[in-house]
Amino acid sequence: MSNIIYEIQSKIKSKILFDYDMGKSTWFRTGGKAQGYVTVNNLKDLKTIIRYEDKIKYSLIGVGSNLLVRDSGYDGLIIKLGKNFNKIKIKKNVLSVGAGVLDKNLANFALKNSIKDFEFFIGIPGTIGGAVKMNAGCYGSQTSDNLKRVLVLNSLGKIQYINSNELNLEYRSSNLDKKSIILQVDFNFNYASYDEILKRNIHIKLKREESQPLKEKTSGSTFKNPPDKFAAELIEKAGCKGLQVGDASVSNIHANFIINNGTATATDIERLGKKVIRRVKEVFGILLEWEIKILGK
Ligand SMILES: Cc1cc2nc3c(=O)[nH]c(=O)nc-3n(C[C@H](O)[C@H](O)[C@H](O)COP(=O)(O)OP(=O)(O)OC[C@H]3O[C@@H](n4cnc5c(N)ncnc54)[C@H](O)[C@@H]3O)c2cc1C
Repeated sequence: MSNIIYEIQSKIKSKILFDYDMGKSTWFRTGGKAQGYVTVNNLKDLKTIIRYEDKIKYSLIGVGSNLLVRDSGYDGLIIKLGKNFNKIKIKKNVLSVGAGVLDKNLANFALKNSIKDFEFFIGIPGTIGGAVKMNAGCYGSQTSDNLKRVLVLNSLGKIQYINSNELNLEYRSSNLDKKSIILQVDFNFNYASYDEILKRNIHIKLKREESQPLKEKTSGSTFKNPPDKFAAELIEKAGCKGLQVGDASVSNIHANFIINNGTATATDIERLGKKVIRRVKEVFGILLEWEIKILGK
């Protein structure tokens, strides 16, 4: 497999890092190594990599704020979108956003241009590509709300627009297949007063600071909220707050956050998650579903 990665390297300008420690690029700050990790700055390189899709596994990463890579690592190529995918433009009545743009940068751009309904992005620490894939959201808003379409490079090397209604965007999920790469995201938008938007931005920031352990090594909400229930409440009532495996623990501030206290392995985190799932099932008969994406064998 690594021979293939060397071959790919000989055909692209973007630099592949070999045996890359994924702990450096995920918010959990732990996990195994990827055989290759590449920040791709142009479409040509991206297309060249895709041509090897039947010979090598690949997976996209935004900023790894929702990602756990198992300690055994990832036997393929991790692709990160570079600077050329970091632009935001207003084209007529469409807000066109590169998939590598950070959510908070989009929220700040929207504020500057008096564009409303993007305030919720201010506190989500991912990229817009990751936000579409996960249909990220908070406080009653989600990425799908204003989404018009996404520009995608598929595994056949074809670039195509996919309309929002074809993506099956539901609570923290989409039907985008693993091999499709979101390049650009187009949103519909409306204007409002700058002050109104600023007020909402500040409100959301404060609310998060009060209720979430934002400075920890975590991936945010570990599990999806089951229908009409809050995962955090179920976890807390099942007595899991503070529960620990190795150096991973269930946050005392927000029970749906698992935290790496410093030296936790990905195995510690996954085992702790499984323990929480078991306890909640025993107490409430409800099966929690992982929100975090887990990569590797
Ligand atoms: C402190 C904290 C708070 C959080 N709060 C929230 C919250 O309020 N609401 C919420 O919804 N989430 C929240 N999250 C989770 C996370 O930030 C979101 O899921 C975010 O959208 C993930 O974006 P990312 O760019 O980091 O994606 P990653 O974690 O890197 O990847 C997530 C998934 O998206 C895929 N992906 C990423 N980019 C692309 C692309 N260009 N094309 C195709 N697939 C892609 C990856 O392959 C992977 O499957 C929080 C996380 C943390 C650490």
